[in-house]
Formats: sequence, C-alpha cells, structure tokens
Amino acid sequence: MNNHALVADGNSMLETLPACPCCNHGEMSPFTSSNGYRIVRCTNCKLLFVNPRPSEEAIRRHFMEEYIDSENRVEEHFVAYRTHSLEREARIIRNTFPSGARLLDLGTASGAFLGYFTDRPEWRVEGVEPSRFAARAAQERYGVPVHEGFLADQEFEDEQFDVITSLDAFFFHPNPNKDLREIRRILKPNGIFAVEIPGLRFRLLKNTGLVSRIVYGEPARLNAGVHLFYYSRDTLGRMLGNHGFSEVSAHPEQSPMYGNKLLRLLNDAYYFTTATIYRATGGNLNLAPKEFILYRKEAP
Ligand SMILES: [Zn+2]
Repeated sequence: MNNHALVADGNSMLETLPACPCCNHGEMSPFTSSNGYRIVRCTNCKLLFVNPRPSEEAIRRHFMEEYIDSENRVEEHFVAYRTHSLEREARIIRNTFPSGARLLDLGTASGAFLGYFTDRPEWRVEGVEPSRFAARAAQERYGVPVHEGFLADQEFEDEQFDVITSLDAFFFHPNPNKDLREIRRILKPNGIFAVEIPGLRFRLLKNTGLVSRIVYGEPARLNAGVHLFYYSRDTLGRMLGNHGFSEVSAHPEQSPMYGNKLLRLLNDAYYFTTATIYRATGGNLNLAPKEFILYRKEAP
C-alpha cells in the first residue's frame, strides 16, 4: 500500500453521514466496499459515496502531507499523463471567454492547467492546492499565485472570479455543499464552474464486479477514503442545481495517458470511440473515461 491511499484500519476515527449530501434523504443501500470502506448509494437520488469515511482531520492531513509528495509524482501523474486532457479543457475554457477572464483552479496539483493561460495577458489565473510541496512547485514553475491550503482556508472577496475549475478533484471534497456555497459566493454573476469527473459508467465497469475480482482480486478498486464521492452527470448536476447552477455544456474526456506505446494507442482509440458516441447521443450513452461539465451561476 502506498501513501497515496487512506485505508480503513479499524483504529482510525471515522465519520458517519446521517443523510445524503445531495438530496438529504436518510436511506442508503450498500453498494460495494473498497480499501476497507463501505460505499453506499442514496436510494432516492442514486448518489454513490463513502460512508462512514475518514475524519475531516485525516482527510486534510492526507492532502496536505501525503497525496502529492515528490517531484516525480507531480511530473508523471499531474503533467505527463494529463497533458492531452488539460490542453483540451483549457481550450474549452478559453473559447467560453474569448476576451479573457479571471480564473481560479481548485486542487491545481502541478499547476500544468494554469500553464495554458500564462502566455495570454488577457487571462489572470491562480490556483488553490492543499499540498505545500505541490503549491510551491506550481508557483515556481508557472509564475502564478498558488494559494496553499483548501478553499475553505482562503478569504477571497465576493464575486472575484469569472471561472472556477475543479479538474479530477471535486470527489475529494468532504463537504461539497459548503464548498459550493463558497464557489457561488466568489464567482461573478453568470460565472462558470467547470468540473472534470471520472465517467461513472466507465469507472464502475473497469473497477467493480467481475473485472475487479479477476484483475485486482478485490470487490472494487475505487480508492475509497481518498475518493469520497462517485458522481455522475446526473447526481453532480442535481447537487449543483441545489446551489443555483445550471449545466451549460458537457464534454467527454480521456484517461490519464500512461504505460507503453501500445497502451497509449489503446487509450487514444478508446477515447476517440467513446467521445464520438458521447457526442452523438448528447452524453446519454456515456462510456468515456472522464467528463468535463460546465455549469453557470444563475441569478438567485
Ligand atoms: Zn440522495
């Protein structure tokens, strides 16, 4: 086990959520287990989440000290493997704001995403990153402000940002409702919150059930404890709707590009096939590895 996982060991303090954080329904059914944690499904809105889960203190400590802990990990996982996705997502954001904007990237990790804006004077970009190591490295590498800590630790003024991004990170947030209130507060009117999430169907096909038992020898490989929520476009849209956001557009995205040449070729082929199907069906038939969804802050 590496130190990028939080495994339930029977001794650590756990926290139990009494109701679904999306629809507040109190009834949940067992779904599967991963890393010693139970994943449950809300019987009303179908949101999947870890419950009980590590204490908030353990989660904070993990992301501040352990999750990103070396230059090598930054370089591989948050730059090299992600280049194609980050580039495409940056293009979508730039096309949404052709004359530039002020952007905040939450959980910016390597800062590589911010790097796609730094040569454009019409863009003013910054990040928030809990790992002190990654925050400093990102700031040095891209010469942009990267605030150390979590969103809740920052003190941004009201209506500062045109766009806030959360790329492959929102499922880490233990208190999504609290953070969404904050995101709404610091976004300008009609501002955009853009979220990349794993494609839920793809992830469940690959990491649960028979495939998981055969390939990994466990019922599910969903990195529970670190990943706290398994959103779909439906459940995320519903949660954001509760906070006055509405969907603007949704785009298929690719898996991180790792492995040898053949694996990367298969990764590309799989992505282009599923992206075509996604676009043809308006995302209703979604087998893509990731989804990038833009939401607009609506007037109250
Ligand atoms: Zn629910």
